[in-house]
Amino acid sequence: MEQILLTPGPTPLPPCVREALARPVIHHRTSEFSKIFSDVVSGLQYVFRTKNTVLVLPGTGTSGMEACVVNLMSPGDSALVLSCGVFGQRWARILDAYSIAAKVIEDDPGNASSSGKLLSELRGSGRKYKAVFFTHVETSTGVLNPVREISRLIRENSGALAVVDAVSSLAAEPLETEDWGIDAAVSASQKGLMNSPGLAFTALSERALKAARSCVSPRFYYDFRAMLESSADSQMPYTAPVSLVAAQAQSLSLIRAEGIENVWARTAQNAAFARTELSRMGFDIFPRTPSSALTTALVPRGLDAGKLVRYLAERHGVRIAGGQAGLKNKIVRVAHMGYAGKSYLRKGLDAIEKTVKEINANGKTA
Ligand code: PMP
Repeated sequence: MEQILLTPGPTPLPPCVREALARPVIHHRTSEFSKIFSDVVSGLQYVFRTKNTVLVLPGTGTSGMEACVVNLMSPGDSALVLSCGVFGQRWARILDAYSIAAKVIEDDPGNASSSGKLLSELRGSGRKYKAVFFTHVETSTGVLNPVREISRLIRENSGALAVVDAVSSLAAEPLETEDWGIDAAVSASQKGLMNSPGLAFTALSERALKAARSCVSPRFYYDFRAMLESSADSQMPYTAPVSLVAAQAQSLSLIRAEGIENVWARTAQNAAFARTELSRMGFDIFPRTPSSALTTALVPRGLDAGKLVRYLAERHGVRIAGGQAGLKNKIVRVAHMGYAGKSYLRKGLDAIEKTVKEINANGKTA
């Protein structure tokens, strides 16, 4: 049975990426590796839309988030977090783990982070925040946050760094890291970047680099200063995950060949197709501002979302995701970023339609 992977990470891999992962491993302290590494860095600058520093970290997206916290926030600094779901809350949890005081502005799942609430907080006490942490695409709800607007408000009303989680949005949603004045953007290999999980990336402004240099929080493995030093020689500080880096070079060259604007447009078309099809089948699109990276939808009344996700995988080889936290058994999440093309997506959506019919036909006994 063909496996169709429509989860919001990992996403399916293009053949050239799979081939790169299968190649004999090379040593990392070689010019061969340095060449691949510098291709990856310039490819990432292209995708993040920045000429500034991009660091490559071994680890998944959360490692990049944690690295931003320990490199930008010193003991005694305060942070503002905009949260509208599990991944906004993750910022708050990481800050809490390092005893950094954080005020959290929470919006209800399905809603975007509110610019109005941000503005009144910044007008009241913007100067006290070292950084504002927020999320571009909130993968737990499928919400697209107004990152451009949020960054502008931060810039105009505070001296805080704008730190965005772009794990689910990079190479799926338009993101202009440099133009929008984002100081730190974090992403990961396994979503729009079409690679296996295991790499995180941070795009850092001059202001963020300055903050990292003067930050006094204890850190070792994820120290931006060490990464910057090695990066100058197109190296990573410790043993590099060479196969993942080589695979990343492949997927970035595919993105470059297609053109990032075309990737965004294609992903938006996939999203429109998924929303139309799921609505036709009786699902309700959950977010008010849905992202192009993934579609989240409330299942038709009476249908068990958990059962749908399980049967799809067992009977049709189609893997989608259910809801997290309070949305467990209420929504399904279907991703359409990265290598998932329209015909691949159509197969998944056809299987969803078939499975809903099977469950309904078999009633509660299915
Ligand atoms: N932020 C967002 C928006 C995500 O979707 C994810 C992964 N689902 C993460 C952070 C965490 O990334 P990882 O699981 O790669 O650590």
